[in-house]
Amino acid sequence: AAGQGGGPKKGNPLPHVRNIIAVASGKGGVGKSTVSVNLALALQELGGAVGLLDADVYGPSAPTMLGLQGQKPKVEKIYGKPKIKPLFAYGMPVMSTGFVVEPEQAVVLRGPRLSGIIKQFLEECVWPPLDYLIVDLPPGTGDVQLSLVQTVSVTGAVLVTTPQEVALSDAIKAMNMFFLPDVQVPVLGVVENMSWFTPAELPDNKYYLFGKDGGKSLAKKSNSMLLGQIPIVQSIREGGDDGKPAFLDKENTLIREAWMKVAKNV
Ligand code: ADP
Repeated sequence: AAGQGGGPKKGNPLPHVRNIIAVASGKGGVGKSTVSVNLALALQELGGAVGLLDADVYGPSAPTMLGLQGQKPKVEKIYGKPKIKPLFAYGMPVMSTGFVVEPEQAVVLRGPRLSGIIKQFLEECVWPPLDYLIVDLPPGTGDVQLSLVQTVSVTGAVLVTTPQEVALSDAIKAMNMFFLPDVQVPVLGVVENMSWFTPAELPDNKYYLFGKDGGKSLAKKSNSMLLGQIPIVQSIREGGDDGKPAFLDKENTLIREAWMKVAKNV
């Protein structure tokens, strides 16, 4: 994908990473990090070498979602230059702003500092050769998004939205950012999260708590596809809180299949 999207760049700091996939959303709390983590694990299950960069500087959740809280990446000198070694979870290299700030520390950084962090995570981290680097972006459109596309060639973007109208109008703004002349990142498709709820005692019923068809309509607007729909499931939330993503629960075939579908479509 080298040379694709992202506007002018100085060299390629990650020639050994075949695809860089940005996961974006308009609003926070729609499940962007949940999608990033479970999608990364599903791509790994499909045989890919996958890494995760949690670039959600304001609310990094990868450390909690992957059970890496309190751990710090090591810095090592390679040819005299300090390099950061990603941590590993479930066989996957992971970097997160959450590793470098304290859990309850307020993150008040201006644009240039934010850009600096993202650049550093891309240029000064020893990422192993990867088929996919999944980048969990902060919600909205801002400096982190811009510095990502200015530092590396982003293969494509995955948009995450809930089906509801307010999430959708923000998701359209996030989508439009990828189409800007200076950005030009192809939108691979849309993941609709929290699509419906099915109570255990009524397994054939779907309740569309957040409305319906939002993902479909965003896919249409972005000229891309609906990569998949993820229902609201308690174990997805619990898995995130416990550091054991729901995708890893081999017994939960329904959830696993939903994530696998997204991964195959990416
Ligand atoms: P974002 O990254 O967009 O801010 P998160 O991935 O952190 O959102 O998700 C917000 C909260 O919702 C988390 O507690 C997460 O576990 C929960 N969550 C996300 N998707 C689902 C889902 N499909 N079913 C149940 N809970 C979910």
